[in-house]
Amino acid sequence: MKRAVFIDRDGTLNRMVYDETHGLMDSPRRPEQVELIPGAGRFLKAVRDMGYLAIVVSNQPGLTKGTMTEDELLAVNERLADLLREEGGAWDDIYYAAYHPGGGPGARPAYEERGDWRKPAPGMLTAAADKHGIDLASSWMIGDGLVDVQAGRAAGCRTILLGNVKMEQVQRFVNTEGAEPDHVARDLEKALELIRASV
Ligand SMILES: [Mg+2]
Repeated sequence: MKRAVFIDRDGTLNRMVYDETHGLMDSPRRPEQVELIPGAGRFLKAVRDMGYLAIVVSNQPGLTKGTMTEDELLAVNERLADLLREEGGAWDDIYYAAYHPGGGPGARPAYEERGDWRKPAPGMLTAAADKHGIDLASSWMIGDGLVDVQAGRAAGCRTILLGNVKMEQVQRFVNTEGAEPDHVARDLEKALELIRASV
């Protein structure tokens, strides 16, 4: 059985982008908006060197909401892959959950069928485990959102929440949500230390 590090995309590998139209932080929609979080490529390289598969799992409800096309998503992914490669990093596979519970103009049957892929559900992780033969209990899920922790826990992985917060603060916040991470790490470099220490 293989082991994997599952990694969120937006806010974890690349920065979120300010959307002036809606006044909120959102996923990049065009390749030129993609800005790498420094060290993200080195992180992917390091986990793969340790023998883990690096698998990106990303909610992309804009596809269903009609704010983004699949071609735009793929162009953003391609740009991100180029930037990661400059640091020597790459992913082994990437999954995205297009589903959005509110539906939308972009809703297609294939997206609706995959409602269980949308984090906090673990569908992307379990699909990847089936495809690649991954032992989820010896795998990790890393991301900057509570849904990342929830999806990782639901899949039976160990979890790391990225953020500049103290574990005690996180515990108070998530106790009721079943979203308590195993670790909190300030950045990917710290997350890497935690993974390395666990081996
Ligand atoms: Mg995120």
